[in-house]
Amino acid sequence: MNSGITERLTEVKAQLPEGVSLVAVSKYHPEEMIAEAYEAGQRVFGESHEQELSKKQASLPKDICWHFIGHLQTNKVKYIAPYITMIEAVDTPKLLREINKQALKNHRVIDVLLELHIAEEETKYGFTIDECRQWLSEGEWRQLEGVRICGLMMMASYTDNSRQIEQEFSSAYQFYNELKQTVMADAPYFNIRSWGMSYDYLQAIACGSNMVRVGTKIFGERVY
Ligand SMILES: *Cc1c(COP(=O)(O)O)cnc(C)c1O
Repeated sequence: MNSGITERLTEVKAQLPEGVSLVAVSKYHPEEMIAEAYEAGQRVFGESHEQELSKKQASLPKDICWHFIGHLQTNKVKYIAPYITMIEAVDTPKLLREINKQALKNHRVIDVLLELHIAEEETKYGFTIDECRQWLSEGEWRQLEGVRICGLMMMASYTDNSRQIEQEFSSAYQFYNELKQTVMADAPYFNIRSWGMSYDYLQAIACGSNMVRVGTKIFGERVY
């Protein structure tokens, strides 16, 4: 049976300009589908639940780079710290401190992104731009040697108002540029802008994204 994953993956990748990387979001999809995308050359996958991820990580090829893209509870960090490539949705200083602690225990430096809350929804996690600016300027992060803050991540509002989505992406990009010129000016690794999902990734790229997280468009609708 032809699942179409290889074709759709190829199609998405062909649309990405040079310098934009793809996180294939495989949450809720079975290992066989991930294996198929892996066979087609994809190595970076995004998951948002610790137990599901740990199970997949244990049985799938070890050269997969796993990105944790969901809300991560501090008590779950220890389970993924030995292997995770990037934790994309760091939404509190407390979570960052715990990642630092578990990274050091594992003799690793874990790459992270700070999640911004720009969307309208009350339920979305993340730092507001003001909180993020303030917290970075306080400088505690410089002491956390087990983590490397590699950039920013955000999700746009769930709306079909494309003007609003564009404004949200653009605010994130503007803030990234501000940090790049100020508090992160001496951090060359701070260069990732992770925004854009199945329905808005091209728009996100037009607004400065260089890491898109695409699930449905590649794997089909999730069955929860
Ligand atoms: C599920 C998820 C995605 C992928 O969404 P699609 O619409 O399936 O592409 C991207 N980012 C995050 C944070 C997600 O939770």
